[in-house]
Amino acid sequence: MDIKLEKTTNPKEKPDEKNLGFGNYMTDHMFLINYDGDKGGWNNPRIVPYAPLEIEPNAVALHYAQETFEGLKAYRTEDGKIQLFRPDMNATRMINSNRRLCMPEMPEDMFIEAIKEVVKVDKDWVPSEKDTSLYIRPFMFTNEGMLGLHVSDHFLFAIILSPVGAYYENGIDPVDIIVEENYVRAVEGGTGFTKCGGNYAASALAQKEAEEKGFTQVLWLDGKERKYVEEVGSMNIMFVINGEVYTAPTEGTVLPGVTRDSIIHILKDWGIPVHEEKIAIEDLMEYGKTGELEEIFGTGTAAVVSPVKSLTYKDEKITVNDGKIGELTQKLYDELTGIQWGKKEDKYNWTVDIEE
Ligand SMILES: *Cc1c(COP(=O)(O)O)cnc(C)c1O
Repeated sequence: MDIKLEKTTNPKEKPDEKNLGFGNYMTDHMFLINYDGDKGGWNNPRIVPYAPLEIEPNAVALHYAQETFEGLKAYRTEDGKIQLFRPDMNATRMINSNRRLCMPEMPEDMFIEAIKEVVKVDKDWVPSEKDTSLYIRPFMFTNEGMLGLHVSDHFLFAIILSPVGAYYENGIDPVDIIVEENYVRAVEGGTGFTKCGGNYAASALAQKEAEEKGFTQVLWLDGKERKYVEEVGSMNIMFVINGEVYTAPTEGTVLPGVTRDSIIHILKDWGIPVHEEKIAIEDLMEYGKTGELEEIFGTGTAAVVSPVKSLTYKDEKITVNDGKIGELTQKLYDELTGIQWGKKEDKYNWTVDIEE
């Protein structure tokens, strides 16, 4: 790719690395590339100053939500290097998302090259405080202006970057979760397995109502029988029952998380049985009452591993591990973050260096 570089003449002041939060600050530059059917596909790759985009009011994405995105991070290691974590998984997932949403598929090598190049330009934005990283948000949408419902031929792919802090400001904090009974996130044949903005728009009301009731997240049940657990807001979820780990299979309605896949690898490596199978919420509540449900944790790029303190379903509430982070949850968090920040040996070959 021949990427044109236009550097900012007005660099921003960097935020305090101790108070980054999540997604509050954007770096100086962004990557853009167009896809136009009538221009032979991908064209005009460029890194330009971060700025508002121009978009036609009748752009298809604004009306019919033809949009997909990804999320990954760049980590600064103790010796000052910058590394990515399994970016090939994000490339593949975006290809699958785009195929489902009738959008062009960006080849994996192009996706990774674009990420590396824009991170290199903004390398001084990769923070080095403990638990901080540079969040990378690739996204793509139809910028073609037309109100008719046709398959579009004009797209913009972009990558923006945001330095982010530790997800939990005061150390890992177990969360309260409510099982959603009224709304569904995904159905078989739908877009549940894709990372598309529409999925989030459809989930927002459930999230809002849960927050109003004092819960951090909702746990989604399957859309058909409302019987089996699927995932939480922006994380996959795992249950430790009698020393074995259970999580929903990724068969179309559940987002195939990179963190989920990594955790499954590590667990299997440790000799802990992992079951990717349907789990009925009624059974789970029973295991909660008998104490056989030992730990619950969510997995996702933002929080890595997120312990769950309690589960509320039909006005019944079970508390897990006395509301404290479980031993296995903590161990997984330490292992995975250890690999990501280069403190532990990367025996799975998951990290990718960004050469400066
Ligand atoms: C992004 C996302 C996840 C987690 O995926 P990771 O690749 O681990 O970050 C889980 N569920 C949903 C709905 C998501 O959008």
